[in-house]
Amino acid sequence: MSFELPELPYSTDALAPWISKETLELHHGKHHKAYVDNLNGLVAGTELESKSLEEIVRTAAPGPIFNNAAQIWNHTFYFESLSPNAGGEPSGTLAGRIASDFGSFADFRAKFSETAVKTFGAGWAWLVRKPDGTLAIVSTSNAATPLTGEDIPLLTCDVWEHAYYVDYRNRRAEYVEKFWNLVDWEKIENRFGE
Ligand code: MN
Repeated sequence: MSFELPELPYSTDALAPWISKETLELHHGKHHKAYVDNLNGLVAGTELESKSLEEIVRTAAPGPIFNNAAQIWNHTFYFESLSPNAGGEPSGTLAGRIASDFGSFADFRAKFSETAVKTFGAGWAWLVRKPDGTLAIVSTSNAATPLTGEDIPLLTCDVWEHAYYVDYRNRRAEYVEKFWNLVDWEKIENRFGE
């Protein structure tokens, strides 16, 4: 058994102009794929071959196996968070939770954007649901992921340079601003549950 690169849930030109076809071809077709190929090479002939990706992410020691497995998971989660003709605001229980935990959707969005922009170096910004049910915004470095802890990830923004350099060069803040046009709130609401 080997791990497979999940297909994008939309075509590579579907997120333009916010994220270009060229970026998606590289980000999914090269970077995401490389993590899959690397992990398959690393686990070949070991007991990890029969484990699920999530199991490996949750249990692997720091090192190449964790890094590649977590990056596969993080990227699948990121690409599935986005959709063409999305954006706007969440509704239902999640909207209420955001309002009570952050003040308003605008406040939440500003705080998430700030976290994404200020994440030092390569990493990810996340909206998570904490074990007590409240929401929080967290930043992780490199391949680190909330999946290894107690929080339930709801939304992520990839702020590795490869996510935006083709389209925005060094202007990470502009990429994060446009990212909001692509967030599929229906998907995020489903992850939130209730
Ligand atoms: Mn990436």
